[in-house]
Amino acid sequence: MLYNKIIVPTDGERITVREGKLRVPDNPILLWIEGDGIGPDIMTASRRIWDAAVAKAYGGQRQIAWAEIFAGEKAASLYGGDYFPAESLAALREFLVGIKGPLTTPVGGGFRSLNVALRQDLDLFACIRPVKWYPGVPSPLLRPDLVDVVIFRENTEDVYAGIEYRAGTPEAAKVERFLKDEMGARFPSAWLRAGFDNFGIGIKPVSEFGSKRLIRKAIRHALDHGRRSVTLVHKGNIQKFTEGAFMGWGYELAREEFGDVTITEKQLWDEFGGAAPEGVIVIKDRIADIMFQQMLLRPAEYDVIATLNLNGDYLSDAVAAEVGGVGIAPGANIGAYIAVFEATHGTAPKYANLDKVNPGSLLLSGVMMLDYIGWREAARAVEGAYTRTVADRIVTYDFARQMDAAREVKTSEFAAAVIERL
Ligand code: NAP
Repeated sequence: MLYNKIIVPTDGERITVREGKLRVPDNPILLWIEGDGIGPDIMTASRRIWDAAVAKAYGGQRQIAWAEIFAGEKAASLYGGDYFPAESLAALREFLVGIKGPLTTPVGGGFRSLNVALRQDLDLFACIRPVKWYPGVPSPLLRPDLVDVVIFRENTEDVYAGIEYRAGTPEAAKVERFLKDEMGARFPSAWLRAGFDNFGIGIKPVSEFGSKRLIRKAIRHALDHGRRSVTLVHKGNIQKFTEGAFMGWGYELAREEFGDVTITEKQLWDEFGGAAPEGVIVIKDRIADIMFQQMLLRPAEYDVIATLNLNGDYLSDAVAAEVGGVGIAPGANIGAYIAVFEATHGTAPKYANLDKVNPGSLLLSGVMMLDYIGWREAARAVEGAYTRTVADRIVTYDFARQMDAAREVKTSEFAAAVIERL
C-alpha cells in the first residue's frame, strides 16, 4: 500500500502469516510510535538497546527495519489535527507488529482514547502483562523473587463495552421499565423508594467467543513457555452468567481443545498426588478478591492468569506494584496476529524531554516483542543486560529514591550502561 507520511524502509521485508504462524524474515519491518510526553526519551533509549542486542545476538545476520508510524500529538501536527490517522492503522494491518510509547488522550467531548481505539479497531483482544521481579528492583514484598506471572486480560468486553445510561435520562428510565415490566427483574424496596431516576445503568456483556479466544491464548502461551498452570480469575460467585460463565467456558475449552495436556486442580490431587506430570498444565480458578490476597501472600502458586477486562485492569497494576511498579511493567495488546507492544505507564508530561525517566517498561515490552517474533536470543540479551545494570545499582531517579547506594543516571546514560552490559 502507498502511504502519505509513513516511510516504508526499502531494506526490510514484511512479516506474514502462513498456515496460522508468523513468518519472520531476517530483516523484518517493525513499526514504532514514538509517544507523547516522555515517549521520545524512552523510545530513543530503548531502540538503541534493542538494535545493539540484535546486532550482538546475530552478528549482522538479522536486523530490524524500523518504520515510524504516527499517533497522538506528533500525528496531530503532521496530519492537520488528526490524532489517529487511518494510515497508521493500515500500516499495523499490513506489517502486523509494532511498539508504542505512551499517548496523551486529549480531554474533550467525544474523543476516544487512542489506546482504546487501537484495541477496538484492530480487535486486539488480549492484553498481556508479564510480571516478574529483577534482582535489585525495589519492592514492598519480602520475597518478590516468588512473583513470576503472565496476566492475560480480555480487552474488548465486560463493563468496558461502553453501554451505559446516565441517571435521570429517558434511556435509563426505559431500561428500568424494560427490566421491571418485560424481564420481571425483582428490585429491592429501597431502590423503589429511591426512584429509578437515581440510577445510572451499565451493561456487562461477556461472550463465549470472547472468553474462549482469550483463554485459548493463555493456555497456548503456558504450553509454549513451559508454564505449569493457568488460573481463571473471576467473580462468578456473584456474577454468575458473566464472570461465572467465563470460568465455565474456560474449563470447557481446556477439556475440549487441550484435553490431553491439561488437568484440573481436582485431578491434580485425586489422580496425581499433587504433582502434575511433565508438560501438563493445571487449570484452576480463583475468585477475584481472594486472588489479590494470594498474589501478595502466596505468589509462587500462580503462573499464567486469564481474566476478564475489569479484574485484569486492577490485578495487572496491583501485581506490577509488587515488583517495582509502572516504571518497569511491560505490556502488549495482541489479536489473532497483530501485536502492539507498549509502555504501560502514561506520558508523565512533567518529565517530558528531561532525559530523566525509567525506560524499563518500554524496554521490557520490546523484550516481549522480540520473543513474539521468535528472536529469543536477542530478547534474553536485553533482559540479561538490564538485570546486570540494575544489580549494579545504576538506575533512574524513580528507583534511586528507593534504593541505598544507587547511582542515579539519566535515561540515555541508563541505555548506555545496558548496552555496555550486553
Ligand atoms: P503517568 O503518565 O503514568 O504518570 C504518573 C506518575 O508515574 C509520574 O508522575 C511518575 O511518578 C510515574 N511514572 C510514569 N512513568 C514513569 C517512568 N517511565 N519512569 C518513572 N516514573 C514514571 O500517569 P498520568 O500522569 O495519570 O497520565 C498522564 C497522561 O498519560 C494522560 O494524558 C493519560 O491519558 C496518559 N496515559 C496514557 C497511557 C498509555 O498511552 N498507555 C496510559 C496511562 C495514561 P513520580 O512523579 O512520582 O515520579
